[in-house]
Amino acid sequence: AKSEGKKRFRFYQPQLSERLQIKIENENALRLAIERDEFVLYFQPRVNAVSGEFCSMEALARWRHPVRGIVSPLEFIPVAEETGLILQLGELIIRKACAQLAQWRIAGLPLLPMSVNVSSRQLNQGNLNDIIASALAEYAITPAQLELELTESCMMADAIEVAEELASFRKLGIKLLVDDFGTGYSSLSQLQRLDLDVLKVDKAFTAELGVRAESEVLFNAMVSMAHALRMTVVAEGVETEAQLHLLQALHCDEVQGYYISHPVPAADIPPLMQRRYLF
Ligand code: C2E
Ligand code: CA
Ligand code: CA
Ligand code: CA
Repeated sequence: AKSEGKKRFRFYQPQLSERLQIKIENENALRLAIERDEFVLYFQPRVNAVSGEFCSMEALARWRHPVRGIVSPLEFIPVAEETGLILQLGELIIRKACAQLAQWRIAGLPLLPMSVNVSSRQLNQGNLNDIIASALAEYAITPAQLELELTESCMMADAIEVAEELASFRKLGIKLLVDDFGTGYSSLSQLQRLDLDVLKVDKAFTAELGVRAESEVLFNAMVSMAHALRMTVVAEGVETEAQLHLLQALHCDEVQGYYISHPVPAADIPPLMQRRYLF
């Protein structure tokens, strides 16, 4: 279907550059996929680094393409952000996350928190609090069950409106996480002013543990600063037992990564909820 569309476009709009054509095709495909409801959420557990208990889970978007199968968000989130479709897709993802929490609650499962990734465009749109409030209300989800993952760049756009919006989330009881920490240019003191709860250290730092000696020094500094600011520290991208042991020694609070669990479809989550990982 995609190549058909491509030919049609070439025929009617021969003046368009190749790049622009590809962009339009991608945008159209994404728009159609949203209409056809082809997006699903996978979930990856985040566990306590000491007790091995399930703390929360991250919702990660997947495109279930009728021909290509599961498509990675690394392919379609950038397109969604570039085209502005992220506003529509982002709202859909928030609603799907709340619907899933409601389904598990109705099934009598523990009311564990879930984090959702939020793009800067969603945050800067100004109506994210309304979108979230209405999704929470529709599915009767307590705000304490919802966490938002925001990147540093998302929050450094030092607009007063963003700070106010973040404050309104916190007032509701929604936890705020800093995603991919260490890849941007924010200082911890800037983040502290925004009163954020959790620091997710980027997986690039985890990957360097045991490889480069400086990485432990860096991690140690991030952990102690975050703790001084009463923030919880999560290491993402934990793939090996050796990394886990180093992180435990560095007093990292929580861990997430393939060593604990890959992101899995919703049906695979219930047995993991009550599980205690033995480290
Ligand atoms: P992210 O928010 O940093 O999510 C973590 C990514 O690391 C996920 O990739 C996850 O599958 C992967 N990961 C987890 N454990 C490991 C590990 O041990 N090793 C390695 N190498 N990787 C691991 P995924 O699911 O492909 O998502 C990629 C990115 O797409 C996310 O990065 C996030 O920026 C974006 N994304 C995903 N879902 C959404 C969404 O619903 N909304 C928005 N705005 N962005 C999303
Ligand atoms: Ca994330
Ligand atoms: Ca991340
Ligand atoms: Ca990211």
